[in-house]
Amino acid sequence: MTKFVFVTGGVVSSLGKGIAAASLAAILESRGLKVTMLKLDPYINVDPGTMSPMQHGEVFVTDDGAETDLDLGHYERFISTRMKKVNNFTTGQIYESVIRKERRGEYLGKTVQVIPHITNEIQDYIRRGAEGYDVALCEIGGTVGDIESLPFLEAARQLSLRAGRKNTAFVHLTLVPYIASAGELKTKPTQHSVQKLREIGILPNALLCRADRAIPEDERAKISLFSNIEEDAVISVWDVDTIYKVPQMLHDQGLDKIICDALDLNPAPADLSVWSKLIYTLEHPKSEVTIGMVGKYVELTESYKSLTEALRHAGIHNESKVNIEYIDSEEIETTGCDGLAKYDAILVPGGFGKRGVEGKIMAAQFARESKVPYLGICLGMQVALIEYARHKAGLTSANSTEFDLETAQPVVALIDQWQGADGKVEKRDENSDLGGTMRLGAQTCEIKPGTLAAEIYGAVVTERHRHRYEANNHYLPRVEAAGLVVAARTPTEDLCEIMELPRTGDNAHPWYMGVQYHPEFKSTPRDGHPLFTSFIKAALAHKEANATAE
Ligand code: GLN
Repeated sequence: MTKFVFVTGGVVSSLGKGIAAASLAAILESRGLKVTMLKLDPYINVDPGTMSPMQHGEVFVTDDGAETDLDLGHYERFISTRMKKVNNFTTGQIYESVIRKERRGEYLGKTVQVIPHITNEIQDYIRRGAEGYDVALCEIGGTVGDIESLPFLEAARQLSLRAGRKNTAFVHLTLVPYIASAGELKTKPTQHSVQKLREIGILPNALLCRADRAIPEDERAKISLFSNIEEDAVISVWDVDTIYKVPQMLHDQGLDKIICDALDLNPAPADLSVWSKLIYTLEHPKSEVTIGMVGKYVELTESYKSLTEALRHAGIHNESKVNIEYIDSEEIETTGCDGLAKYDAILVPGGFGKRGVEGKIMAAQFARESKVPYLGICLGMQVALIEYARHKAGLTSANSTEFDLETAQPVVALIDQWQGADGKVEKRDENSDLGGTMRLGAQTCEIKPGTLAAEIYGAVVTERHRHRYEANNHYLPRVEAAGLVVAARTPTEDLCEIMELPRTGDNAHPWYMGVQYHPEFKSTPRDGHPLFTSFIKAALAHKEANATAE
């Protein structure tokens, strides 16, 4: 039978609840338990796909094509269980499901209410996502005291009653702020936050107290007394320079023991050696590279969470430190590419919309012409293709219909704008449901032998997608004739999955690649990711070559 650990948050958001939950999961997994994780999001959006990355951070995509909360990315980086649609649900989904049932008459004429109908639905969703695992860690989004997270907390409480006390545990993450003028850590917000939880019938088994420093014994004793939680279970979680240190920090303070005792589990001892090894590598780099990342949401790196982590993982797997500098593509449009010359490699990540896209095209051109390693992800592949079409294949007005619906040469277009229509652009209805045309989730393609992609991946590639537009097959032959290599295509629709420049001949480039998918979603600190590892290796080689040339 599955046991449940609910992770709640108090005082403020952004304390790293996802990372704390994932770290506990990682320890439990290292103790031989089969662990999964769920994220319960209290907002009304059915999924985060429609939310601005400025507000909500990255949208993480699973193999089965769910657009989920970025915390699922942390889960996949910390534990080996792969996340699916069932691992993330929102208030919007719960209500949608309950209302559908009500319309079908499934509630037999009863008044449909938050308790029990919404709370029961939440419990069904939790059980569905947890099925088949020893332990399911359920992270409840938001902060205790929010109106919108109440039904989730109530559902968790009910589930703990139904599943039995020894089958559920609660962990509460709170803030212990340091007040500089008083020179003190303040425990009051934590006391109040635990009181709020107790009001609704939840007494946490452990408290994770976030602070910028370790919390001294006497403060922990005070928190323990006021919140009615044993002192051992008042755990100090201070700021660390890398999130991968958190599992060890929690284990050192006995969190996994507290939870296993609460759940009546007695698994093998924890083995966190993989984590200590990778932290050692991270902290003892043999060299260093700086990647220029050209994007739009530059001000908010949260929207590129998986990407920055993937680059960091690639650093670990190259025993190097990877610095990332963000360059606003709109700035390139006004000031040109000179500023890019100092980077060891250039990366154009995924993105949506017209703003700043010409600057990204300029960055791709710069990388191609100055032979700097280039990785274009999703939109970053599309801009590289447009650039090559314009400057090398004579398609001077090449563009994507995403940025110019009237373009004479739609080298990148919506699939239904060109498929079977001999290149003729069919305009879409403005009101058509854009979400429906998104290519989402994992797809497997064969790779052309002899390519850089084949060297990196082997014979096949399976990666996750999240985009609407595609390289237009009507124009691809002309771009290929001009030297660009399509290294992989999808088996059914023949869509361009990977493009690259050859490493020999007229258009030779040491490392230039565009991928239509998002490889960053599958990178983990333990295994890294072959594409990013290769990219960073190329950046190191470029740096070295430059140094010798000087
Ligand atoms: N905007 C492009 C598309 O929809 C690229 C999307 C992305 O980079 N994720 O196809």
